[in-house]
Amino acid sequence: MNTIQENIYNITTSLPEDVSLVAVSKYHSPEDIIAAYEAGQRVFGESHAQEATKKSFLLPKDIIWHFIGHLQSNKVKFVAPYVDMIESVDSLHLMEEINEQALRCQRNIDILLELHIAEEETKYGLTLDECRQLLSEGEWRKMTNLHICGLMMMASQTDDEEQIEKEFLMAADFFDEVKKTYFADDDKFRLRSWGMSNDYQIALRCRSNMVRIGTAIFGEKDY
Ligand SMILES: *Cc1c(COP(=O)(O)O)cnc(C)c1O
Repeated sequence: MNTIQENIYNITTSLPEDVSLVAVSKYHSPEDIIAAYEAGQRVFGESHAQEATKKSFLLPKDIIWHFIGHLQSNKVKFVAPYVDMIESVDSLHLMEEINEQALRCQRNIDILLELHIAEEETKYGLTLDECRQLLSEGEWRKMTNLHICGLMMMASQTDDEEQIEKEFLMAADFFDEVKKTYFADDDKFRLRSWGMSNDYQIALRCRSNMVRIGTAIFGEKDY
C-alpha cells in the first residue's frame, strides 16, 4: 500500500493543471492530515462541524478548510471563524446564516451551491429548478460577506459509468446556464466541484475543476 504522501503525489501530478484537489480528511487523524500537508497539500475537506473545528485548532493556520457535509444552520457559527469555503449550501436560509456569521467574524466565506442530480433520495442539495428559483429571487445579491463561487454535486453511487457521466454532464450544462444568466461578469464564479475517489476520472471528462478525494488518499476511515 502507498503512503499518504505517495497518494498525494500521484494524484496531484495526474490532475490537469486547472483542476484543484480537496483532500477529504473526515474521519482521519490530525497526523494523517499532517502527512498530506508535508507532501504539499493545503486544501482539506471536512463533513462534521465538531470534528472540523477541533482539527482547525490543532493544525497549521495556512490550511484551507472546505466544509463539504450537510450543515445545519445552528452549526454555522462554529465553522464561520475559520472555514474558507462551504461547498454544501442548499438553501436560502443556510446562506443567510452563513452571511450573518461571516459578518460577525468580519470575514468573507466562499460557497458553492450543492445540486441534487443523483437518483438517490438520501442525497442533499437543490434540484435544478430549486437552484434556478433561489438565484432568480436575488436575495443572495444583498449578502455582503458571502460569495457564490460555483456548483458542487455528488453522482449516484453506482457501477454504471454511463449513469455517472450523465449526471456530471447535467451539472456541467447547468453550470453554463447559471454562469451565463447570473455570473457572466464574475470571474470568481468558476468552480465545478464533482468527482470523488471512485468517479473522479469520469468527472474530469465532464469538466470538473475541483475533485474531492478521501479514500484514495487516506485509505478507509480510521475513526
Ligand atoms: C466523503 C466525501 C467525499 C470523498 O469521498 P471518497 O469516496 O472517500 O473519495 C467527497 N465529497 C463528499 C461530499 C463527501 O462527503
